[in-house]
Amino acid sequence: MKKKVELIVMALLLAVLLTAGKYLESRVSSDEVKTDENVVVVDCGHGENDPGKIGVNDVLEKDINLKIGKLVEKKLKKKKFKVVMTRTEDKILADEGSNNKKAQDMKARVALINETKPFLAVSIHQNSYHDADVRGAQVFYYSHSAEGEAAAGFMQEALLSVDSGNTRQAKPNDNYYLLKRTEAPTIIVECGFLSNPQEAALLADEEYQEKIADAVVDGVEKYLESK
Ligand SMILES: [Zn+2]
Repeated sequence: MKKKVELIVMALLLAVLLTAGKYLESRVSSDEVKTDENVVVVDCGHGENDPGKIGVNDVLEKDINLKIGKLVEKKLKKKKFKVVMTRTEDKILADEGSNNKKAQDMKARVALINETKPFLAVSIHQNSYHDADVRGAQVFYYSHSAEGEAAAGFMQEALLSVDSGNTRQAKPNDNYYLLKRTEAPTIIVECGFLSNPQEAALLADEEYQEKIADAVVDGVEKYLESK
């Protein structure tokens, strides 16, 4: 009899844990949050004392992110989207005296996206790898978000316009803080590799930055049209 009760209690506990897990997953999966069809958040990664990746040509990821992000902002506004930027200058979203600026910055970015409720948040970054031959833009999305996956697919395809030979595919991820904690569909666009000499030179070039920004805007529009 005692064994039976124990078994039932165990089964109940398991059921509760499974339900709680599902609930948590759906809460962060972003697919049920009511979002604004007109608003896009553009997040330029890093800033201030956090340079991000450093290019073989010495360019800093934080600067490239901001340049491309601002172009995306301008182009989206031209198309009558409302754009909320997480930063518009070389700053991060943390207090001067904070003892963990990076964590505070990331939390603030997530909070801004969650408050804004955009139909899509696009985080702009640049990649780096120990093998200098590796290149090509790549888009990341949260593994548990069907909307994120759809948006990332359209974005990856749109980015072919800057490099038709790019064979990279949109990639799921389940541990990036920004992807995990945002309630609205969020994608990270790694525009290219600062460790590849040719791509690093392109990414620092204003004309190429314009092309990337055009592709990002195209990806945003294609995703919205598909909804
Ligand atoms: Zn980055």
